[in-house]
Parts: sequence; C-alpha cells; structure tokens
Amino acid sequence: MTAKKGRVFSGARPTGRQHLGNYLGAIKNYVAMQDDYRTVYCIVDIHALTTVETTKDLAFNTQEMALDWLAAGMDPKQSIIFVQSHVPEVMELHTILSMVTPLGKLTALPTFKEKVRDNPDNVNYGLVGYPVLMSADILLYKADAVPVGTDQIPHLEFAREVVRSFNFHYETDVLIEPQAVITKIPKVLGIDGERKMSKSLNNHIELAATPEETEKRVMSMVTDPQRQRRNDPGNPDVCNVFTLHKIFSSENEVESINKDCRIAEIGCVDCKRKLAANLNKHLEPFRAKRKELEGDPDYVRDVLLDGAKRAKVIAAETMAEVREAIGFYGVKG
Ligand code: SF4
Repeated sequence: MTAKKGRVFSGARPTGRQHLGNYLGAIKNYVAMQDDYRTVYCIVDIHALTTVETTKDLAFNTQEMALDWLAAGMDPKQSIIFVQSHVPEVMELHTILSMVTPLGKLTALPTFKEKVRDNPDNVNYGLVGYPVLMSADILLYKADAVPVGTDQIPHLEFAREVVRSFNFHYETDVLIEPQAVITKIPKVLGIDGERKMSKSLNNHIELAATPEETEKRVMSMVTDPQRQRRNDPGNPDVCNVFTLHKIFSSENEVESINKDCRIAEIGCVDCKRKLAANLNKHLEPFRAKRKELEGDPDYVRDVLLDGAKRAKVIAAETMAEVREAIGFYGVKG
C-alpha cells in the first residue's frame, strides 16, 4: 500500500438530497481523493444557520445528504465523515481566530457582499464571520490540503492568512497553512440550461430520483434555443443536454450526436431519451446502494457519530496546542 499524501478537509452544507451538480462538482472528487489522501469530510450544519429561516428540516437534510454521500462511495473506513456541530471545538477555534482577523477585511470580501445582497433582511454577525468559521474547520483538523476550484482559491488564501496572523500574534507555529489541490470543477447547468444546477432554483436532477422522474426532468431540459423545428440543424456546443452526454454517454454516442445534431439527423426528443437512459444506467448502482442503506436507519447515524469521535481526537490535540500557544491560565506549557 502506498503512503497517503496528507490530510484533506472539505465541507458542504446540509442541503438534503443531492443532485447531479453536487455529484459532479464535489462528491465524485471526494470519492476519488480517498485513495490518495487521509480525507476528512464534514457536513457543515453550523454554517447553515447563517442563512436558514428555520431549522425544522436541518436534521433530516443532514441525514439525507449523508445517505447520498455514502451511497455514492464515500467510505467511512477510508474517510472521517461527520457533522460539524458534533465537534464543538470548531466554535472555540472560530472565536479565537476572530480575534486575529480584522473586521474590515471580512466586510470587504466579495462573498460577504454577495451574502448581504441575497439575505438583506438577515445580515447577522455569523454571516460576517463565515470565512473565519470556514478557516476554523480547515485548521482544526490540520488539513495539509483543501480541494478547490479556481474560483475558490481566494477562500483558501483567506484561511492561510488567518494562520499567518495567528502564528505571528502568538509567536507559534501550531497552525499550518493548507495548500490548494486545484480540482477541475465543472459548472453544471440546470435543466433550464441557463443557471447553475440548484435545488432552490428547482432546475436540478436528484441522484435518488426514480428512473421515471429522471426521464421526466431530462425531457424538460432546454436545448439549443436556435433549434425551433425538428428539421433545423442544431449546435451541440451550446446545448446543456450535449454537455451531460459528454459525461454520461459513450464516446461513440457523443461523436454521433455531435455529428447528427448539426445536420438535423437526430431530434432533441430522441437525444434526450438517450441521455435519460444513460443517466439512469449510470445511477443504478448508487440507487441500489441507497435503498440498501435506507433499510438500516441506524447505519448513517452510527457512521456520523463514529466520524465525530475520530474527528474529536484531532480537534482536541489542536485545541490543546492552541490554548497553550495563547497562554491561557491553567494550561500546561
Ligand atoms: Fe441538444 Fe441533442 Fe437537440 Fe442537439 S439534438 S440540440 S445536442 S438535445
């Protein structure tokens, strides 16, 4: 067995049942990284509190998301998989890190401005400190690396700055600067063919949907807007159906669709039917595994509680070092 490269941390908000965008943008990569890294994956439920109006579905969404993660191949034997709030040390580290983070820096971040725009009636303190909590997540588990798309590099740079600031302030080196593992994260558009796939926009295709529901969603996908009639030649380069064919269909199929669409040899209805069939085939093992896991309601809970136990061991070590570096009374030094 080859040695693993280091520890990776990544987290995602509990959004319930996952969709194709979540799968292609994160889960697929989470699964792939398990072989090469010591992976720590977290459902960040505390982060969700900054914007949710009610927590009535929070626990259910956490459970459903974990079910999808496990069914998709995230393996509790290889990875630590847990829920953020089960390891409260993250809140202590968040508070400590907030003292070395200038407020002006946080309010100047484009992501903060975006959040204010999206939640104008609820600009809470947690929203401002969001990047500090995100940094605490990564630093608490001493992650060597974080998988990021190129657009997320500034977020990681923020965490690295927090490390420098803390270590400088307390003349220590207990926190480590995580490196970016640049990951190619495809932008998956929704069935409207315009905006990123998202549950809130209801333009998504759920991984756990039935084959019939999946086909229905695929058949309603927007195609090349220039192609009005069956006999009009189409342009696969601007068609979201074709984008998904490139991921879920065979090379031969992709090649023939690419050719036949341009000369109106294939119609959009047939093209979508093919995609739905391939997509359903691809998701078959996932759905079978999910069904099996659903039959054992305690399993997911046990995985998450065990993950929290393992995460807590790392968190406790980090916090002991952090408290000692600060010089709190009564902490052995
Ligand atoms: Fe898109 Fe397929 Fe229609 Fe071409 S035939 S426009 S690729 S759905």
